[in-house]
Amino acid sequence: MHWSKEPGGGAANAQGGDVEICEHLREAKDLQPSERVCEECIKIGDSWVHLRICLTCGHVGCCDASKNKHATKHFHRTQHPMIRSIEPGESWGWCYVDEITYDLSRGTQHARVLG
Ligand SMILES: [Zn+2]
Ligand SMILES: [Zn+2]
Ligand SMILES: [Zn+2]
Repeated sequence: MHWSKEPGGGAANAQGGDVEICEHLREAKDLQPSERVCEECIKIGDSWVHLRICLTCGHVGCCDASKNKHATKHFHRTQHPMIRSIEPGESWGWCYVDEITYDLSRGTQHARVLG
């Protein structure tokens, strides 16, 4: 006898389980900032609110609450997809492509999806 297969069937854990960690996080590195400043803001004599580090190349840029949004500009310029906060006490990361927030308190290898 023939069983009809549903198109694209076999998505076993599509729901109810852990949200999948995206491919960008798998390639992200646990980089540490060399300096806790936004160099691009310093160059133009501006200030920033919070700092983010690029997990592809280690670029430090300022957040979207800052006037110049250098972290996001870095993503648009380079397509480096992942950042994390380097604010004291903050350990979340963010994928610009998938718009997923991760808990990186135990590093990128043990990341959890926050939503
Ligand atoms: Zn991603
Ligand atoms: Zn900046
Ligand atoms: Zn980068």
